[in-house]
Amino acid sequence: MREALAGVAAGDGGRGADGEGVTVKEPVDHILRPQLPWRIGPGITECGYSAEKVPTLTRAAYFERLKDMGQQRCAMVTCMTCSDTARRWATWDEEPRHAMQREIEWEAGGGYRFRRGDERGVRLRDELLAVAALIEAHREEFDAHIAATEQRRAWLEQKAAHAAKPKPKQQIFGLDAPPL
Ligand SMILES: [Zn+2]
Repeated sequence: MREALAGVAAGDGGRGADGEGVTVKEPVDHILRPQLPWRIGPGITECGYSAEKVPTLTRAAYFERLKDMGQQRCAMVTCMTCSDTARRWATWDEEPRHAMQREIEWEAGGGYRFRRGDERGVRLRDELLAVAALIEAHREEFDAHIAATEQRRAWLEQKAAHAAKPKPKQQIFGLDAPPL
C-alpha cells in the first residue's frame, strides 16, 4: 500500500521532485487579476504580486494555455494560486457583484484572507467613498443610468417571453390538430 501511494506521488507530473527530467526551478508565470473598471495601471496578479515584478499572462491567455498544454503541463509553468483563483472568481463583465465580492473578501479581510498592512483594503474603502460622492454630485445621471438598465432588461425579458411563446396550434379543416 505504501509503495502504491509513493508511486502515485512520483507520477504526479514530476512537480516538486526532480525525477522524470522535469525542471521545476523555472519561475512560473502568474495570471493578471481582472481589475475593477475604474482602476488603471499595471495592477496585480491573481495571487497578489505586483504585476510589474513578475512574469504575467492575461486570464484569457491562461485559459488558452490550459487548453493547449493540458492541466498537468500547464501547472508546471503557471502559478497554482493564480490558476485556482482565476477559475474561482468572475470578472466584472461576467458578474459585477461577484467581482466586487472578491475584492471585499480579499482586500477588506472578510474573514479568511486578511492582508498584511491592509493597504489595498484601505484603497478599496476610499474608492467606494469616492463612488458615493460622485453619485451624490451626479444624481440625475446616476438615476438615468439605472432607469435605462431597467428598461433594457424589461425589453429583453419581453423579447425572450415572446420567443418562448408556443406557436399557435395547427389547424386542419378548422379543427385543432391532435397533439403529437
Ligand atoms: Zn501567482
